[in-house]
Amino acid sequence: MPAHDTTTREDDAPQRFVPRATPETQPYWDGAAAGELRVTSCRACDRPFFYPRSSCPRCGSSDITWITCSGRATLYSYVISARPAPGFDAPTVIAVVELEEGPRMMTNVVGVEPEPENLPLDLALRVTFEQRGDMAVPVFTPDAERGVR
Ligand SMILES: [Zn+2]
Repeated sequence: MPAHDTTTREDDAPQRFVPRATPETQPYWDGAAAGELRVTSCRACDRPFFYPRSSCPRCGSSDITWITCSGRATLYSYVISARPAPGFDAPTVIAVVELEEGPRMMTNVVGVEPEPENLPLDLALRVTFEQRGDMAVPVFTPDAERGVR
């Protein structure tokens, strides 16, 4: 199979993109399968970062560890995509969320009508996991207990 083919198709219907773990991202996906959001963190400058890399994007140290996040985040930026990606219902909320631990990640916001009035910036979110094929994918949903900061 060509190295660039990263999709999994179980039948002829459009399937959602199913990510594949790499050695650098395996702990992230293992965490997701266990219902935990994990990110890499630099031991030298004590800063978590995303996406997972083998060296710190801030100081270049390769003294990296994995931490389990609280799962709490806030909405940093988003677009409402009216164009369906394969396997997704349109519209879809494609968002950048800021984790409580600091890193920002691109994800989907689910469990809310995709209308701007439902998606104020700084909206409190919590992680949830969407099963795609055999992978659990971290996505975010409004955290009613926290509301807007
Ligand atoms: Zn560092």
